[in-house]
Amino acid sequence: MSNLFYQGRGRKRVLDQARGVYMWDKNGRRYLDGSSGAMVCNIGHSNENVLAAMQRQMEKSTFGYRLHFETEASERLAARLAGKMPGGLNRVFFVSGGSEAVETAIKLARQHALAIGEGSRWKIISRAPSYHGCTLGALATTGYAPLTEPFEPLMRVMPKIPAPRAYLDGLDPADPETGRHYADMLAARIEAEGADSVLGFIVEPVGGASTGALVPPEGYLERVRAICDDYGVLMIMDEVMTGAGRTGAFLGGDHWGVRPDIVVMSKGIGSGYAPLGAMIADDRLVGPVLDAGGFAHGFTYAGNPLACAAGLAVLEEIDRQDLCGNAAVMGDRLLARLHGLMQRHEIIGDVRGKGLLTAFEFMADRVTGAPLPRALNAYQRFVDIAYDRGLIVYSRRTRDGIDGDHVLVCPPLILNESHIDEIIDGLDGSLT
Ligand code: PMP
Repeated sequence: MSNLFYQGRGRKRVLDQARGVYMWDKNGRRYLDGSSGAMVCNIGHSNENVLAAMQRQMEKSTFGYRLHFETEASERLAARLAGKMPGGLNRVFFVSGGSEAVETAIKLARQHALAIGEGSRWKIISRAPSYHGCTLGALATTGYAPLTEPFEPLMRVMPKIPAPRAYLDGLDPADPETGRHYADMLAARIEAEGADSVLGFIVEPVGGASTGALVPPEGYLERVRAICDDYGVLMIMDEVMTGAGRTGAFLGGDHWGVRPDIVVMSKGIGSGYAPLGAMIADDRLVGPVLDAGGFAHGFTYAGNPLACAAGLAVLEEIDRQDLCGNAAVMGDRLLARLHGLMQRHEIIGDVRGKGLLTAFEFMADRVTGAPLPRALNAYQRFVDIAYDRGLIVYSRRTRDGIDGDHVLVCPPLILNESHIDEIIDGLDGSLT
């Protein structure tokens, strides 16, 4: 028996090597990594330039504690990241993962409110379903009851509004009225909670693991931004999954020109080479916190030089290979092919996505949107079938953790046409 334990049943196969979009197990079997791990390995596996940059950093230093030293790697990565942020988001705080980045955003927002005399604000509204992390603060904002309920009262679950799943509600996502309809739920919730108790609203620009590549309806994010402004609520954009080119722009929010108050990132900026995350805010938020005595927060491994050197090399590869552009072009092609699969396979009830964050959802009935019976466990079974055929995909329950199954198809952004053919063949065979 293995000494390791993770959630659920373990995977029996043992990873040996990975290159580009492919992975091999110890038996020499090849898999196409159709989910970039968990939407992590954006630039593909074993990129030589990143490995060389890490090697150079390792030979210089692998660790320096952030309260003792900055390093060239952390300074340069912070500057490069800030250069990719919308208007004036220039203050970067490094962490080692997505949950840590969300924790950091919540704590910065809270300390800022205290520093400016708005200490009554403490609630972070989010959406259901959503996933923002597994640590208690990030989990409190996660809209997925089976994950949150067991941990009350260790944490206080935060208020939720419905995610804008127009396809289930029979609304047209291209109609600006639809975007307004869902965004106005935020205003109503802020009013119901008491506006002076609400600190922030956390949102993924394109929904990831919880909703399965949910693209917001027309005008939704812009109106959410306006509502946050009206009520003095901070808009926290969770770009953990959407960031670093995944949706065909560096940030998912870039598609809508929305500038949040705080951006949180992880996954794609380390691209699997190192545990890395970041929270990016601006002087307006960070200044008062530092003036009031400093930011009471930090993780030991945060900003370590090896992770930062990896992150810097990853960002250089994203630019050098124009991976945002490739994700946009290949994403459109992949999405069109997934629509083709939907025509051939009745079980697919919806196809959606942006760039290379794409998904399809299983339904018992396309017209009513009825999900498959929960007991079928279709989402898990499909992953296993595809896995046996050499294709790795990522699937979850969609509907508030109860019913509904979606499959995310999110390969590395270095994807080409022939990889798409291979993915579609693998999916087609698995669906059959
Ligand atoms: N936010 C989002 C949108 C995520 O998808 C995830 C991870 N799936 C997290 C936060 C948490 O990141 P991590 O697992 O690195 O802590």
